[in-house]
Amino acid sequence: MYCRNCGTPLKPDNYICTKCGVPAGIGNKFCPSCANPTDENAVMCVRCGVFFAAPQNVAPQDAQQRSKLVAALLAFFLGTLGIHNFYLGYTNKGVTQLLLTLLASFLTCGLSAVAVQVWAIVEGVQLLTGTINTDGNGYPLKQDI
Ligand SMILES: [Zn+2]
Ligand SMILES: [Zn+2]
Repeated sequence: MYCRNCGTPLKPDNYICTKCGVPAGIGNKFCPSCANPTDENAVMCVRCGVFFAAPQNVAPQDAQQRSKLVAALLAFFLGTLGIHNFYLGYTNKGVTQLLLTLLASFLTCGLSAVAVQVWAIVEGVQLLTGTINTDGNGYPLKQDI
């Protein structure tokens, strides 16, 4: 599948074109099937004969935009448990933080929990400043800060 806007090849799980940033299926300049340039008003590709489907939703129905504000607050207040990463869909990172806090605390007298708290606060700041802008699935976060 190709980007309808710029003709760049897209992977099946790319909901947004990595080159031009336009959601997959949006645009009218290239055939999604063979990347042949198409007329804006064309409903089918004259080269490969494929019909152009109506633009699909950017994200699947069940994928709600996660809130940046909620994620940042979770990072600041529940960061040692990795809750903000579970919320954002960064499950591996969340599990790592949770395990570091719960298990390693016994071995390091709580030092690792402090380290995770610092880590989580850094991530909270990155959320606030926009360094972290997408969730674990690559969907943009809701800009509610
Ligand atoms: Zn594109
Ligand atoms: Zn085509």
